[in-house]
Amino acid sequence: MNSVDIFLELYREPLPDHLVELEEYARINNVPVMGRETGDIIRYYLQSLAPENVLEIGTAIGYSALFMREYLREGAHITTIEKIESRYTEAENNFRKYDPDSMITLIKEDALFAIEKLREDKKVYGVIFLDAAKGQYPTYLPILFELLEPGGVLITDNIFHNGAVVSSRYAVTQRDRTIHDRLREYMKDITGHEGLNTLILPVDDGVAICQKK
Ligand code: SAH
Ligand code: MG
Repeated sequence: MNSVDIFLELYREPLPDHLVELEEYARINNVPVMGRETGDIIRYYLQSLAPENVLEIGTAIGYSALFMREYLREGAHITTIEKIESRYTEAENNFRKYDPDSMITLIKEDALFAIEKLREDKKVYGVIFLDAAKGQYPTYLPILFELLEPGGVLITDNIFHNGAVVSSRYAVTQRDRTIHDRLREYMKDITGHEGLNTLILPVDDGVAICQKK
C-alpha cells in the first residue's frame, strides 16, 4: 500500500471480516476482484441512489456482490451473472454462507443471453456494475442502457485493461489488441452517448461512471 492508500483506508468504513477473507483468497488465487477505491465509488452510489434493484455482470466468486449487499437498502435486491462453472460454484457457496436472506440472485449463463432476457422481461435497475468480458462491452451497452432507470448509474470496471489499453499497440498480443479496440470503442460510445452523462476516473484499473439522463 502506498501512502495515499493508507490515508484513505483510515477514513473508510472497515470491511467486514468475511470480505477481507474473500479479498485475500482472491489475491492468492488470482481472481480479479474489484479494488478498494472502486468499492468506494460503488458504495457512494448505493448509498446516495438507494436503488431497489442492482445488476452485476461478472460475479466471479461473489466478492463484489457481497460487498454491494452490505450497502443495500432494506428490501433491495442484487442480480449477478456468471458463466464459468468453477467461478459460480464458489460464488454459490459464498452466497450460501454470507447471504442467508437471499438478497442476491445468481444467473449462471452467458451475460449477453442473460441481459437480453432481462430486457425482454422489462426489468430495470438503479445501479449496474459491468465487470465481465471486456471485448463485449460495446455489444452490451444498448441493452444495459435500456435496463437502466432514468437517473440510474452504470459503473464499468477495468476500462484500462490493466493499464495496457493506453500503451503501444505493438507491445500487446492480437487478442489483447482486439479487446483494446473494443474498449476504445466503448469509451467512445459512452462519452458520446446522448442519453448518458459520463465520467471516466483513473481509479484502480479505470472506472467509468455513466448516469442515465
Ligand atoms: N465482479 C467481480 C469480479 C469479476 S471478474 C468482483 O469484483 O468480485 C470477471 C468475471 O466475469 C469472471 O469470473 C468471468 O468468468 C466472468 N465473465 C466473463 N465473460 C462473461 C460472459 N460473457 N458472461 C458471464 N460472465 C462472464
Ligand atoms: Mg474488475
